[in-house]
Amino acid sequence: MPLNLYDTYKRKLVTIEPIEKGKIGFYSCGPTVYDFVHIGNLRTYIFNDTLKRALKYLGYKVKHIMNITDVGHLVSDEDAGEDKLEKGAKREGKTVWEVARYYTKFFLADIEALNIEMPEVMPRATETIPEMIEIVKILLEKGAAYETDEAIYFDISKFPDYEKLTGQKFKDKKQGARDEVVTDPQKKNPADFALWFKTVGRFKEHTMHWSSPWGEGFPGWHIECSAMSRKFLGQPFDLHTSAIDHTKVHHPNEIAQSEAAYGIPLANYWVHAEFLLVDGHKMSKSLGNLFRLSDLEEKSFSPLDFRYLTLTAHYRNKLNFTWEGLKAASAAHANLRNLVSELNEPAEPDEKYLNEFRLHLENDLNTAEALAVLWKLIKSPEIASGVKRATVNEMDKVLGLNLAGLKPEVLSPEIAELVERRDFARQSRDWKKSDELRRNLEAQGFSVEDGPQGTKVRKNS
Ligand code: AMP
Ligand code: ZN
Repeated sequence: MPLNLYDTYKRKLVTIEPIEKGKIGFYSCGPTVYDFVHIGNLRTYIFNDTLKRALKYLGYKVKHIMNITDVGHLVSDEDAGEDKLEKGAKREGKTVWEVARYYTKFFLADIEALNIEMPEVMPRATETIPEMIEIVKILLEKGAAYETDEAIYFDISKFPDYEKLTGQKFKDKKQGARDEVVTDPQKKNPADFALWFKTVGRFKEHTMHWSSPWGEGFPGWHIECSAMSRKFLGQPFDLHTSAIDHTKVHHPNEIAQSEAAYGIPLANYWVHAEFLLVDGHKMSKSLGNLFRLSDLEEKSFSPLDFRYLTLTAHYRNKLNFTWEGLKAASAAHANLRNLVSELNEPAEPDEKYLNEFRLHLENDLNTAEALAVLWKLIKSPEIASGVKRATVNEMDKVLGLNLAGLKPEVLSPEIAELVERRDFARQSRDWKKSDELRRNLEAQGFSVEDGPQGTKVRKNS
């Protein structure tokens, strides 16, 4: 079965048919680097990575682009509020450039810790300004955009599919009907969105600005993705992803401006991942439930425990994060690592299991079912140890859990001595001492099992 994914705008499962045989051009919206990324963002980046790995596993050569937004993303996606980078700079008493550099560094560290493969290109918005200006120029020439004293806007009335894409009706809306949106009195329709902001009025002090045919200014957020995807993948390209929050504003805007400028689609397939919730709620600073990867690590969970947790849910389902859920995922993950570490050197992989695994990937990237196949394999009494090892290595190319090459734990001399002393205490039926030594080992991060060969310890991951 070829790869099927759910396309949000076609509203159905579609079979991916690449533009160029055997190759996939793939673009994902990246972070706005004005603050730390949270585990919700990271769920989406793991989804992108797993999809990329699955495509490669299924035989495609993938070119993956994920941008870094370091200018132009206003606090509201609808052109209101401050630029997030300027806001971050004020908050921290740094320059916008410093803020961008600082949070990009942390973002890249999280990506690495989660075993997310680096995209082939990670363009920064600030390095792609000429390409953005080029699209805005074409839109103005074609009459799909217009200039006011404050900005250049895309005229949504020139893109007939706009309402269908956003799922909203705009005709009846009066300008300024939404108080919180700062409106430009020269805007034709309140839903027209900015392609370029001039450094005048509320943006007079904007630090980042570039020369353009319309004076000094800076790009709107949506035009960034249109320009960066086109620059590195051409237009149309195959696949565009991010999380579900971008289906109503950001992506319709990308589609409208790119299609209006060039008369061809931007991307052939649009796939969106569902949100991560925390204790059933949307994450927010005010609720105190906005966690970073480092918050998980502080509680002794590994980044790959979190990756494992995200793989247990289908990307189109909400993932409700709880500490109990993470604890359970971490225990299962530790168990898996221990079982894999004891397998023999790889022999030939088992094609039957790999086939089943592959079918689940092809069926809308069902990682939860794919993971279940891995467990079934590990527990199967009929499959030889080395065959299991080889099959796990193959599956891990997609799961990205770093299972390949795991070896049984070599204990430090101190721990080995505690184990020896505990075995002696048990042989001497000194249960008090034996319990004390168990607690000591557990306090040092080991789980302790009593087997026929004596005490067996495993480092908790
Ligand atoms: P942003 O920096 O706000 O544009 O978000 C970066 C990425 O994370 C985007 O692809 C968002 O769609 C995604 N995202 C934001 N919040 C969540 C969440 N709670 N769960 C999953 N993905 C999210
Ligand atoms: Zn984007």
